[in-house]
Amino acid sequence: MSTVRPVVIAIDGPAGAGKSTVAKALAQRLGFFLLDTGAIYRAVALSAARAGVAFSDGARLGGVAREMALRFDEAGRVWLGDEDVSTAIRTPDMSQGASTVSAHPAVRDALLELQRRLAEKGRCVVEGRDIGTVVLPWAPVKIFLTASDEVRARRRYDELKAKGADVSFEETLRDLRERDHRDSTRAVAPLKQADDAVPMDTSDMNQAEVIDRLEVIARSAISLDG
Ligand code: C5P
Repeated sequence: MSTVRPVVIAIDGPAGAGKSTVAKALAQRLGFFLLDTGAIYRAVALSAARAGVAFSDGARLGGVAREMALRFDEAGRVWLGDEDVSTAIRTPDMSQGASTVSAHPAVRDALLELQRRLAEKGRCVVEGRDIGTVVLPWAPVKIFLTASDEVRARRRYDELKAKGADVSFEETLRDLRERDHRDSTRAVAPLKQADDAVPMDTSDMNQAEVIDRLEVIARSAISLDG
């Protein structure tokens, strides 16, 4: 077994904390690649929905997770076979679906090795819910991003509205709280801050401030010229 591990920056936190945008920007600044693990759970939900597999059927969902032909391209788009599903996995239904399917141990087991394999390809920023606690607990840099419920829901609502979605703020806030509750109370790999993670509450910070802070933390924790 290889003991040389690439440098990984793990960014975990609840929905709407701003992980995706800042993780992408941080990866660009550092010249790392980005691994969005939420997209993998979303792809399981989409594959299951299309195959008529119930979100309650853990055993069959495990099979879907193992067998789906998932890949990320260099632009960060998500493919299932020869279909670009980057947009299809981002609907509110797939957010709830991903959160539901991700609570099944069979799904998490199936995806654990896949995530580790993808993260071993080189220096990367990996964002998710359990990266610092379960998937890559040896990551030298761990950040836990949070923000208040209202701020997170407002960001998610603005994002959905910008895409032309027909949603209300109240609905968005309710969905987000439901998802937080499910993600943090599930038996396997619940959303929680790793003991050695740096917590960052972004409620009163703009994106540029968050990215600058992350870059400082990352650069001071690791040598980036090797
Ligand atoms: O981050 P994103 O909102 O795309 O994640 C969708 C869902 O996938 C989350 O609500 C969570 O239930 C699940 N997830 C997870 N573990 C991860 C990443 C995402 O359980 N590492």
